[in-house]
Amino acid sequence: MDNFTYYNPTRLIFGKGQLDALPNEIEQYGKRVLVVYGGGSIKRNGIYDNIINKLAEINAVVFELAGVEPNPRISTVRKGVEICKNEAIDFILAVGGGSTIDCTKAIAVGAKTDIDMWDIITRKARAKDALPFGTVLTLAATGSEMNSGSVITNWETKEKYGWGIAPYTFPKFSILDPMHTVSVPRDQTIYGIVDMMSHVLEHYFHQATNTKVQDRFCEGILTTVIETAPKLLDNLESYEYRETIMLSGTLALNNMLNIGFSGDWASHNLEHAVSAVHDIPHGGGLAIIFPNWMKHVLGDENAPRFKQLAVRVFNVDPTGKSDREVALEGINRLRAFWTSIGAPATLADYDINENSVESMAEKTVTMSAEYGGFKKLNKEDSLAIFQASL
Ligand code: NAP
Ligand code: FE
Repeated sequence: MDNFTYYNPTRLIFGKGQLDALPNEIEQYGKRVLVVYGGGSIKRNGIYDNIINKLAEINAVVFELAGVEPNPRISTVRKGVEICKNEAIDFILAVGGGSTIDCTKAIAVGAKTDIDMWDIITRKARAKDALPFGTVLTLAATGSEMNSGSVITNWETKEKYGWGIAPYTFPKFSILDPMHTVSVPRDQTIYGIVDMMSHVLEHYFHQATNTKVQDRFCEGILTTVIETAPKLLDNLESYEYRETIMLSGTLALNNMLNIGFSGDWASHNLEHAVSAVHDIPHGGGLAIIFPNWMKHVLGDENAPRFKQLAVRVFNVDPTGKSDREVALEGINRLRAFWTSIGAPATLADYDINENSVESMAEKTVTMSAEYGGFKKLNKEDSLAIFQASL
């Protein structure tokens, strides 16, 4: 592995009833609080009322931005930036899943600059400041609650990009009460499970040497999620299973798993191109793409890494088989596992056909002609992976 400095400034506040910590965590930043949330799930499950009551304890002056879309849009970011500037907001509180948190990160940066946020997200301009913000997570999936990354969609240009400006886009704190995720419906629970497993897998495929500790961390999280997911899907209200999955989602992408190297992220790049054009759920897109990326990049030179995953996580018996055979069996078992929990397997599941392949492939290379850390890919590779995913 490479030399590294690990720094994660987000205070993680985890467990039942931890919303009690909210007033104390916010008070130090000021009274004028913008609460950002999505399409209304927090009103239906009571989280909204609990938050408003907690904010009343510190006499906060509360402003709201509701309606953050899944796959949050730059137009909503701009609305939030305007509220922050017009109302002299001191602190932003994101209440929701990855979309609400990612939108909040962009609002926090936009509030401190006159540059349009899309220019910052597309790296045309730079920013070095943000309003402080915290999160109350309601969906286990992205890890956005403890990292500095964000993914924003421009629906006018049909582009979706990841960005982030550490340390400014780390939440000051994140409150994770597994009870807050008990109301997440079955399909979103499945997408979250696929997303967190994909984050671990993106870390797992890299070119660094001597990553024994990191490998075992990854394998431990993957086997835990594989064991727990079917039990949770049989019992969506189980606190114990929600707790395990919630912690897994955070650890999958708080950059502990990739200390000393960078992972691959090609599958995320490919998925962002799909959902930029078709607005499908991120985890659904990853379930379709990831095994096809694996099959596309698998070669004799990198088969041992795939084999390690197949043997240690998917219990493939390697006796009498070539590395490549073991690797392929592992990939097939990943696909079978995702199918067994109800995740989609083909783009046709979202009515996406070959007419979209060219435009999606084009979007995988708009930021740079090549992408991927484990194996460099170009537009031709994107075309092949999308074709295989139809
Ligand atoms: P999400 O888009 O935030 O939420 C999906 C749906 O779940 C929404 O309709 C939401 O409803 C609902 N929901 C959330 N919490 C709920 C609850 N407790 N009960 C009932 N329904 C609930 O989903 P996500 O998977 O967390 O985020 C996806 C986005 O994150 C994508 O744009 C993806 O690209 C991005 N992402 C970011 C990172 C990162 O590190 N920053 C990593 C991977 C992916 P409401 O809107 O009504 O609340
Ligand atoms: Fe993701």
